[in-house]
Amino acid sequence: MTPTGTVENPLRVAIVGSGPAGFYAAGALLKSKSHPDLCVQVDMYDRLPTPWGLVRGGVAPDHPNIKAVSRVYEKTAAHPGFRFYGNVEYGRDVLHDDLVGRYHALVYAVGSQTDRRMGIPGEDLPGSWAATEFVAWYNGHPDYRDLEFDLSPERAVVVGNGNVATDVARMLALTGDELATTDVADHALEVLAESQVREIVVLGRRGPAQVAFTNPELLELGEMTDADVFVDPKDVELDPLSKAFLESEAASMTAKKNVDILTGYAAREPTGKRRRIVLRFLVSPVEILGEDRVEGIRIRHNELVEDESGSIRARPTDAVEEFECGLVFRSIGYRATPVEGLPFDDRRCVIPNEGGRVLDSRRPLTGEYVVGWIKRGPTGIIGTNKRDAQETVEHLLEDLDAGRLPDPADPDRDSLEALLAERCPEHVTYAGWEAIDRAEKAGGEPRGRPRVKLCSFEELLDAAHDRVS
Ligand code: NAP
Repeated sequence: MTPTGTVENPLRVAIVGSGPAGFYAAGALLKSKSHPDLCVQVDMYDRLPTPWGLVRGGVAPDHPNIKAVSRVYEKTAAHPGFRFYGNVEYGRDVLHDDLVGRYHALVYAVGSQTDRRMGIPGEDLPGSWAATEFVAWYNGHPDYRDLEFDLSPERAVVVGNGNVATDVARMLALTGDELATTDVADHALEVLAESQVREIVVLGRRGPAQVAFTNPELLELGEMTDADVFVDPKDVELDPLSKAFLESEAASMTAKKNVDILTGYAAREPTGKRRRIVLRFLVSPVEILGEDRVEGIRIRHNELVEDESGSIRARPTDAVEEFECGLVFRSIGYRATPVEGLPFDDRRCVIPNEGGRVLDSRRPLTGEYVVGWIKRGPTGIIGTNKRDAQETVEHLLEDLDAGRLPDPADPDRDSLEALLAERCPEHVTYAGWEAIDRAEKAGGEPRGRPRVKLCSFEELLDAAHDRVS
């Protein structure tokens, strides 16, 4: 039999998910440094008609420089061995067995599809949202476009001290004029421009030395055109544990700089801007209050203690406080959900794996790999996925060299097209995505915006298939 990876018998890989992790995996396969002569064909699937995952649906509209990373993915997509199939849902339109029968290897890059819950009373009251819903809505994700955010309350609370919390706080604090130059979804632009929110209170359960913000994101909160940032000086007086931690070798530069930035904020005087962003620490929500909708929040003050593993964690004290608010955004992390045909670690919310090789009962499943958040959990910035994908691809190629990859029953490249034509005639190829991209950019051009996003499946599919809507 002709060896796999030759022109006669190319290495065929399916990647499920077209976010950064999926694209870095595709890039590493198509331009492998260790296997420069390898002939590879990559087919990438996504349930949305559009690629780029959280670069399109997660990165905040006022961060165009971060979105520019998609240019790297465009280069990967231009490789002749690459094909994109959007609007194809794994587990519905194509099943595990369909792919196993057609590829030597499957790489799952499905990310973390849902959010973590706080598990407190009132969490489901109208006005209490997962930050992930708000983010998907303002970024024009078609599943979220019909959500109705009532931004008439004066005070909003954001729970969590990660970068998603800073995105939510900034989006609530940006002016209508600032938003109007971005690619924020039109439906969100209208609502955000009319927002009555004047105070955004961000709650951290631990202290300034334990925040998960990165420095540039924390600095941005202090540079808003029409919002002052406020930190109570008492909140930046560090407890002995945090002090010792910051002086130890374990403390990152990011943590030290965050504390400096927050100390600087605590010394600021308000300048009378229309809005304020209040950063509070050592508090946890215990109940969201209200009859028919969010009217307030009850929080408990925490102290920091060291647990058996040496980690600093929050321990509740007896001090409780309530204040009024009309909106709550819980921004305490994403959570992955199980994937059809694969094992799932319910505790860590990842597909069990070793360096990206999927494990079933601790033994590698031949030909099955993971990259990105479904591999390591919802952490890290976009670039983190590059190293992560390289590791997985190295292991995949090691398995190829060792003859461990299974031979698919039907490796013909056209057989997949035939299957999709039957199951999913409305699938979107890369050329279809380019048509969407052109239509969105053309919509933005006269308004001085990078693009006006098409936000429904119908509009997206019409643009992809060149139908006049
Ligand atoms: P994250 O960075 O993991 O932050 C989650 C925050 O929620 C932490 O402060 C955590 O506190 C807190 N938290 C968790 N459970 C809680 C609870 N029950 N009650 C109160 N607070 C709780 O997650 P994320 O903000 O969703 O971001 C996900 C990843 O995407 C991160 O790696 C982030 O850096 C990245 N991202 C990057 C950018 C950017 O580069 N601009 C933008 C958005 C997201 P503890 O530390 O105490 O657990």
